[in-house]
Amino acid sequence: ARPIVTIVGRPNVGKSTLFNRIAGRRISIVEDKPGVTRDRIYAEGEWLNNYFTLIDTGGIEPESEDIILSQMRRQAEVAIETGDVIMFVVDGLEGLTSTDKEISQMLRKSRKKVILVCNKIDTPKTPDTIYEFYELGLGTPMVISAGQGLGLGDLLDEVIKNF
Ligand code: GDP
Ligand code: MG
Repeated sequence: ARPIVTIVGRPNVGKSTLFNRIAGRRISIVEDKPGVTRDRIYAEGEWLNNYFTLIDTGGIEPESEDIILSQMRRQAEVAIETGDVIMFVVDGLEGLTSTDKEISQMLRKSRKKVILVCNKIDTPKTPDTIYEFYELGLGTPMVISAGQGLGLGDLLDEVIKNF
């Protein structure tokens, strides 16, 4: 079977934008404000002749912090149960949040390969704010801009290395 790559992270970090970039089509709904999307959305991805199934775990994205947390738990479960490689997306503009720390704790308990993805770095110069993400204990973040399409080749190289 094809490897499964799951995208997780808190609302609004750019999961669906990244998903659509990799899928090469607009399948997942990108929203400026929290809204309702399906529990998970699948697409076929390919990089250098490696084929995989990509899952966006966006789901319902509510504003209340405790509902966000329960949903993050569910996302992490889906990723840990079904994913071979997990892309954990954080927001490089907003910086590290307590929800990021909670998600990373859940993911670190799994034996799955977790790639830390720092999104929204839209300029070639990497800002110092990305260093705070080392605290998550998931290694060096891969810096990307899903919006601008930057850093995606390096990210996908890292993904297929783990198949
Ligand atoms: P999700 O909730 O994690 O699926 O996030 P979305 O993909 O829906 O994106 C949330 C918001 O972040 C949207 O307004 C996107 O346009 C914006 N966004 C996504 N990627 C980037 C990026 O690389 N740079 C910037 N500046 N904004 C981005
Ligand atoms: Mg989404």
